[in-house]
Amino acid sequence: MKNSHETLVIHNAIAVLKDRLLPDAFIRIENGRIAEISTEIENSWQGGRKIDAEQGFVAPGFVDIHVHGGGGRDFMDGTEEAVRVACQSHLRHGTTTIFPTTTTGLANEIHAMIRATASVAMSSVDELLPRIPGVHLYGPYFAPDKVGCHSAEGRRNPTPEEYHSYFQTGLIRIATCAAELPGSEEFYRVARKHGSLITCGHSNASWHEMQMAFDAGMRHVDHFWCAMSNVASLRARFGAPMQASMEQFVLMNSQMSTEVIADAEHLSPELLEFAFRMIGPSRLCLVTDCSRALDMPAGPYKFGNIHTGSEFQSSGSVGLAPSGGLASSVRGMDHMVRVMRKSTSATLCDIFQMASLTPARLTGLEDRIGSLEVGKCADLLILDQNLKLKNVILDGCLVG
Ligand SMILES: [Zn+2]
Ligand SMILES: [Zn+2]
Repeated sequence: MKNSHETLVIHNAIAVLKDRLLPDAFIRIENGRIAEISTEIENSWQGGRKIDAEQGFVAPGFVDIHVHGGGGRDFMDGTEEAVRVACQSHLRHGTTTIFPTTTTGLANEIHAMIRATASVAMSSVDELLPRIPGVHLYGPYFAPDKVGCHSAEGRRNPTPEEYHSYFQTGLIRIATCAAELPGSEEFYRVARKHGSLITCGHSNASWHEMQMAFDAGMRHVDHFWCAMSNVASLRARFGAPMQASMEQFVLMNSQMSTEVIADAEHLSPELLEFAFRMIGPSRLCLVTDCSRALDMPAGPYKFGNIHTGSEFQSSGSVGLAPSGGLASSVRGMDHMVRVMRKSTSATLCDIFQMASLTPARLTGLEDRIGSLEVGKCADLLILDQNLKLKNVILDGCLVG
C-alpha cells in the first residue's frame, strides 16, 4: 500500500526541466503534486522528509506507450496478476505511466487483457503501480507480410464487430492498424471518434495508403524502421517507379509522430542520431516495446499469450525470433535513456522530453504529467550522474 501523502523535499539535485537544467535545485512535493521548484538559496523549506539527491538528476517519470510485459509476464496473459507483475517491473525501471499493449491473438484473449488491465488500473490508486490511463490496441490488425515476431495465426483484418467491442470498453487510448488492410479507413475513423492516438504499424503501406490513413486521423507510426515499409519494400510490392514509403511520410509531415526502440540492439547509434535530428524530440518518443523477459534470465519465452503466443529466445540483451530476426526488447526505459545519451547528440532535456513529455502530450496527459512543473503530479525519478536510477517517486510517494 502507498504511504499517505507526506511532504517530501528533494535537495542537492540537478533538476531536468523542459528546456534547461537547474543546478542546486530544491523540489518540494505536497499532496502528490509538485509544489515548488527553486534553488537551494531561495527555497522556502518548511519541514517534510528530506531526500538528498547527492548532485544527481531529478527528472520526470517515464511514459511508455508501447510495452508488452516484464518480470516474466505478458499483458496478453490476461490475468490481473500478470498485469500487476509486468507493471511493477517497469515501475522499478522508472516508468510511472504505462499503456499495456496487445499483441496479435484471439479476440477473447484481447478482451481478457483489457478486462484485467481495467481492473488493475482501478486499484492502482491504492497500490504502488504506475498510472494506467488505458490500453494500446496494437495487434491483431497487422499486414500479413509485416507480422514480425507476433503469432501469425493471431493476425487478421479489422472487422467492425470485433473492434467496436474493444472501443466500447472506453479503455483504448492508442489504436494501431496497418493502413493497407481492407477496412482500415473505417477503423481509423472509429478510433478517432473514441479519441485514441491512431497509429499505423506492422505495415508495408505506400504513400497513398498513408495519405488515406492520415485523412482518417492516423498521426503516429510504431517503432521507426522496424516492421514498416521502405522504398525497397514498396518496389518489391509495386515495381518501378520507386515510391515513397512510411519513412518519407513521417519525415516530411510535421503532424506525424513516431517512436524508436533505443536498446542499442534494434537500431545503430547513427540511426538513433538520425531519428533525433530529423524528427526531433517533440515528434519522437522513446518506447521500450519490452517483452515479458525484462529482468529475467536468458532463455526461451513466449511473446504474447503464455499459451498461444509465439516462441522467442531472450539473449539477456534482446529478444530473438526463431527466424533470426529481432523479437522486441527486454529492457526498461532507464536503459533506453542511457543509450540515447551515449549514442546521440540529444541533451538530457531532449531525452527526457522523448521519454516523458512527448508521449504524455500525444496521449492527452500533458497537463498532468510528463515534465517537472509546479502543479503537475509528482511522478519523479532521482538518477545518478550516469543516469542510473536511484529512486522512483510516484504520485508523491517514494517507491521501495
Ligand atoms: Zn511491433
Ligand atoms: Zn511491440
